[in-house]
Amino acid sequence: MSAVLEVRGLTVGFGAGASVVCDVDWSVDAGRTLAVVGESGSGKSVTAMSVLRLLASPPAEYRGGSIRFTDPDGGRVTDLLRADARELSRIRGGRIAMIFQEPMTSLNPVMSIGEQLIETIRVHQECGAREAAGIAEKALDDVGIRKRAGGSILRAYPHEFSGGMRQRVMIAMAMACHPAVLLADEPTTALDVTTQRQVLDLLDERKRATGMAMVLISHDLGLVRGRADEVCVMYRGRVVERGAVAEVFAGPIHPYSRALVACSPRIDRKPGRLATIDDAMADGTMMREFEARVGKRAWWPGGGEALMECVAPGRWVAVAG
Ligand code: ADP
Ligand code: MG
Repeated sequence: MSAVLEVRGLTVGFGAGASVVCDVDWSVDAGRTLAVVGESGSGKSVTAMSVLRLLASPPAEYRGGSIRFTDPDGGRVTDLLRADARELSRIRGGRIAMIFQEPMTSLNPVMSIGEQLIETIRVHQECGAREAAGIAEKALDDVGIRKRAGGSILRAYPHEFSGGMRQRVMIAMAMACHPAVLLADEPTTALDVTTQRQVLDLLDERKRATGMAMVLISHDLGLVRGRADEVCVMYRGRVVERGAVAEVFAGPIHPYSRALVACSPRIDRKPGRLATIDDAMADGTMMREFEARVGKRAWWPGGGEALMECVAPGRWVAVAG
């Protein structure tokens, strides 16, 4: 399998500040889901926004690395960090789509959802208005939004929908152009638990139906369990651990991922005393166990350079350089 999207050494900062994303490496293959997890502020959104170069620059500064997109349709390779504006607008929303946490901020309240969908479709696909309307209806149907009795669903406005339905509209919009990659940044954080599950199931189903690659970003480790193939744990702008999701959950190695797994509530386990990450870290045991296992000290913020150490096939942890 070869990667559809490969991030290497990505380093991003704002203005004169320290880098908020530092030397980030990950990749995702067609038909697979990579989960990017980590607490709020760890650099997940900056990483995702960098893929499509959506950060206003300045102040954002891409300080290093590459983001290689290999289009499974035709094999064309693009380094997104170096692509020109024309190439970027072709890829954005067309070959790589993104959905965000709060659909209301991405939907235009004064345009019907049909107008918005049709506009997106016509930017990326050569077709007339009528054909685009057909594609839009099909895209909405795919996410479970059906024609209504009174007239076309395309004439509805965003405020007529619930939060969960609006997120479905966003997914329809993202999927309408058959992207090779979907970046989903906290796609269900604003939704209640039941709706969360439905939207995640829908994303899984769309991924299976289309064979696209998905990057699922969440602060909630529990949410990605069972929904991702690989996981990449971020802490303070760094990747601290990366590997197959089942392995990382079953036996996290880096002290931060161990703390994160230990503190993540599980549906199949009665929550006992939920330790905080800080509690778990204050105890030096995990650091010592890491050193005993890996033979090097774990990287820790303030501890200087980090290097990624391969501890098993496909399994990487951050060690102090
Ligand atoms: P996450 O998505 O993991 O919660 P972000 O990627 O949004 O975190 O943010 C990572 C860090 O970058 C945070 O410290 C945040 O304050 C900083 N940051 C994000 N956007 C900007 C910006 N436009 N200007 C300055 N700092 C920013
Ligand atoms: Mg974020």
